[in-house]
Amino acid sequence: MKIKRTTIVIGCFLAELFFVNVTGQNKYQQHIQLPVIPQPNQVTLLQGSFSLTKDNGMILEMADSIRKQIMAYMVEEKEKPLYRHLVQISGKKKEKNNIRFIICPTQNIPTEGYHLRITQDSLLLEASQASGLFYGMQTLVQMAMNTENGQILPAVEIFDKPRFAYRGVMLDISRHFYGKDFLKKQIDLLAQYKINRLHLHLTDAAGWRIEIEHFPRLTSQAAWRTQAKWKDWWNGKRYYSTETHREAYGGYLTKNDVRELVEYAQKRAITIIPEIEMPSHSEEVLAAYPELSCTHQPYGPSDFCIGNEKTFRFLEEVLLEIMDLFPSEYIHIGGDEAPKTAWKTCLLCQRRIREEGLNGVDGLQSYLIHRIERFLNAHGRNLLGWDEILDGGLAPNATVMSWRGTEGGLAAVRSGHRAIMTPGAYCYLDSYQDAPNTQPEAIGGYLPLEKVYHYDPIPKELPDSLHHLIYGIQGNLWTEYIPTPEHAEYMLYPRALAVAETGWTNPDIKSWPDFHQRAMNAIEYMRHAGYNPFDLAKEYGNRPETAQQCKHKAFGKPVIYKAPYWHTYPAEGERTLTDGLRGGWNYNDGRWQGFVSSRRLDIVIDLEKTDTIHCIEADFMQLCGPGVFLPEQIKISISNNGNEFVPLTSWKHQVVRDDTLTIKRFTWKGEVSTRFIRYQAEASPTYGGVIFTDEIVVK
Ligand SMILES: [Zn+2]
Repeated sequence: MKIKRTTIVIGCFLAELFFVNVTGQNKYQQHIQLPVIPQPNQVTLLQGSFSLTKDNGMILEMADSIRKQIMAYMVEEKEKPLYRHLVQISGKKKEKNNIRFIICPTQNIPTEGYHLRITQDSLLLEASQASGLFYGMQTLVQMAMNTENGQILPAVEIFDKPRFAYRGVMLDISRHFYGKDFLKKQIDLLAQYKINRLHLHLTDAAGWRIEIEHFPRLTSQAAWRTQAKWKDWWNGKRYYSTETHREAYGGYLTKNDVRELVEYAQKRAITIIPEIEMPSHSEEVLAAYPELSCTHQPYGPSDFCIGNEKTFRFLEEVLLEIMDLFPSEYIHIGGDEAPKTAWKTCLLCQRRIREEGLNGVDGLQSYLIHRIERFLNAHGRNLLGWDEILDGGLAPNATVMSWRGTEGGLAAVRSGHRAIMTPGAYCYLDSYQDAPNTQPEAIGGYLPLEKVYHYDPIPKELPDSLHHLIYGIQGNLWTEYIPTPEHAEYMLYPRALAVAETGWTNPDIKSWPDFHQRAMNAIEYMRHAGYNPFDLAKEYGNRPETAQQCKHKAFGKPVIYKAPYWHTYPAEGERTLTDGLRGGWNYNDGRWQGFVSSRRLDIVIDLEKTDTIHCIEADFMQLCGPGVFLPEQIKISISNNGNEFVPLTSWKHQVVRDDTLTIKRFTWKGEVSTRFIRYQAEASPTYGGVIFTDEIVVK
């Protein structure tokens, strides 16, 4: 009998992957890596193994109501061999070989934690509450899946508890709608990996996705649009349709759907957090109820009119129905990306600013957030919002979901608020997970499994005394470019498993090579269970040029910027273009330097002595979605004194908008003697955007 591909970690030393023979001698008693995601925090391997056979007894010591719930869960999940076995033997007590599940509230076992002790003739799983027992069961299920025949478990003792209380995944069901059955299927899998929050992005311009009795047009109109694919609709006229229209695309969760989902998730220790966007991302609401907009016209601004009391009556009615459906502590109110433009000229909004003494339109946004927070608090709930809720002063009890980097989270924590970390560069699961030319079109970025795995939600600069305010981590699946449920699974898995392990497992136990192998096994399991994960075995990886530093004649030489680089994408500043480091698939990877079109790229490299050169080459990126374009014109000139330059070569390049990521290399070859090289690149006046390059290579 063996555990598949188990890794032993001794202190900081990572042993090679090898098979542990648990029936044989094993001198390593600490920090065993089990074939389980997320890796349990304290594992000791014992002698021998425990067999799952018809001779087992099954004892459930806990309150009746919880026992019923656990039995119901195991019956629902009985395609998993372990649960099938436990259901078959439940209620039968034997002399030995008993499986005992105990929930004892007075036990000193931490929240969500569990103690599992497997010996040759007994299996004990105990917790102080139902969620802890549930997580112990998930560990057991995965151990059983990864042993031969699923019938022999290694003798082991585990004391486990999560690193973070909040371990979330967000699904955007507005941009594309996937219904109740899809959500249940994901809840099943996420729960297995000890994710405990499912955040549903229920409303956005692309469609309102939940029944609200007070406002029927939200679902008869705002839930439907004229084109199925978000991209076609967004690049087109962005019209809404009606539920009864033959060609309308959309859908929504009925109240009964939601009740069913909430109960289904609760049984799996998952809390569903609803998100209702305000004050912006609300075009669909304002199309159905234009009186809530500053212009009183549909298809106008995306922001609610905050000067109008009708807006608050609407939001409060909606939130009352939402709170009635979702028992979660948190109600997410969005709060992100408000353009605030219409507020500047709206008489009602301006009157509100005057009467309340607010600091312009930023103060107006803050007024709404504070007022909604008071409303939620009065109903026993807390407000959760994207990090823009910090603008204009954070509402007193609010929790920040930090997406624009880690600064929002840090600011929140420093002012004594909780933060949930979900920075785009590590947690946006809609980015490409492999080389873009091998993948279906994505919104951009490059976020392979390894990068997700290496993210630590606790920023290095945060003092220990504030660590407890980092409440957890969340992976976000925005779905602009994800039209089908199968595609959503492809983007979610296995990256959501890396989020799960970071959320649960202490950093000193985490091991990338071991996790990679466990993720491969999990993918095999997922396929078997009818999911559509990304095939990690075929991963191409980052751009080959990134693998090693490129030494050339301009390497380490000074660069003079005739026009500044864009401060948003500085990479390594003035060293970037001669540091020998080539960029990867992501313009945001700290190796590509950005130049906005108004300023263009115009630099001079000083070789510090006159030298004979034979080649000058540079790569440029194009990714039209986020506005990254190849240059239209490139000029190279040379000089021996740094003042008078003579042209060496130039290119005119026809910029064409497309859907793919392109990296194009411009190369000059010849022979010339020079000390200074001036490199200029200009954007197309038609497209503008940002020019990105990573290195000017001189040979
Ligand atoms: Zn207004």
